[in-house]
Amino acid sequence: MSEGTKRIPATLIKGDGIGPEITGATLAVLDALGSPFVWDEQTGGETAIAQGLDPLPDATLESIRRTKLALKGPLGTPSGGSYRSVNVRLREAFDLFANVRPAKTIVPGRYDNIDLILVRENLEGLYIGEEHWEQVGDDPKGMAVAVGRNTRAEARRVIRYAFELAARLGRRKVTLVHKANILKILTGLYLEVVREIGAEYEGRIAFDTMIVDNAAMQLVMRPEQFDVIVTTNLFGDILSDLMAGLVGGLGLTPGANIGPEAGIFEAVHGTAPDIAGQNKANPTALMLAAATMLDHVGEHDKATRMRNAIERTLQSGQRTGDLAKLPGTVTVLSTSDYAKAVIANLG
Ligand code: NAD
Repeated sequence: MSEGTKRIPATLIKGDGIGPEITGATLAVLDALGSPFVWDEQTGGETAIAQGLDPLPDATLESIRRTKLALKGPLGTPSGGSYRSVNVRLREAFDLFANVRPAKTIVPGRYDNIDLILVRENLEGLYIGEEHWEQVGDDPKGMAVAVGRNTRAEARRVIRYAFELAARLGRRKVTLVHKANILKILTGLYLEVVREIGAEYEGRIAFDTMIVDNAAMQLVMRPEQFDVIVTTNLFGDILSDLMAGLVGGLGLTPGANIGPEAGIFEAVHGTAPDIAGQNKANPTALMLAAATMLDHVGEHDKATRMRNAIERTLQSGQRTGDLAKLPGTVTVLSTSDYAKAVIANLG
């Protein structure tokens, strides 16, 4: 860190699966950039379970409570069983109500000019974890029940956030994605609220609404009609992976979990167990999340330098294997060599 650089305490969770590899690559770029972050490394997820700890240890929570800022690798949650998702618990613990997931073309592929932002409600809906079995006949697990809960206050908060984000970034339109034809109350609430809040932005930011199944098709057929999308928790989770597919895959899309008191920055993707430990994961998504974290603390010049270096690297054809099939002449690099190439392009 050069003299005069700000020093900003931040929590680091390297994560599970490919987490340590992509975090290592991201930290190498941040170090070369002279980033202001002073890391307090903590653990979580499967790594913590393997150490005999709770998947969300108190020390990790205390660290984020203190720093209000975290860079986080993906954390695994075993499917089924009794563990609640660590990611969901983290969002709840820090009131991280808005999950901001941009998808922007860096390497032209199937689409050339995608520049979308999805704002996903991050705390409610079908992710509240209220599920149980009910007996049907002799079968004690004959019926599976999940409760979905959306509050008007939360709908207002996240939809207003989406409009404010659109205004701040000079975006033209917000699209509310829902399923109010079937989930008339659970997601109909969002339709009511977007009309109320959209009216406040009349003449500045347009808004429209779309049913989620149609939105999935329209995103593939005519993505240019969208700008900022705001939606409920489950739909946002699914559509943001779809949007990642539009720009080249999960290796390229960052996410920010934002609340009034804290921000946790991560990739959209998970732990990618199928390629973990092979030094071939794409660290770009986490690098872009780190650039967003730099913006979050006001280090815009460093954020821009980092993004430009990533773009130069990818556009020169130096890429990890997941992007090998996109157009252009490609040199396939390992995770660590890709980080070196980005560092060389920092300028
Ligand atoms: P995943 O996102 O881990 O992987 C989906 C596919 O994309 C895999 O084929 C994987 O190899 C590929 N992929 C993902 N990231 C990549 C990268 N950076 N470079 C190259 N290829 C990449 O989804 P999954 O397999 O459904 O989930 C695995 C685990 O991750 C689960 O335990 C899940 O709960 C967890 N998860 C965590 C988060 C998070 O921490 N925010 C998000 C999603 C899933």
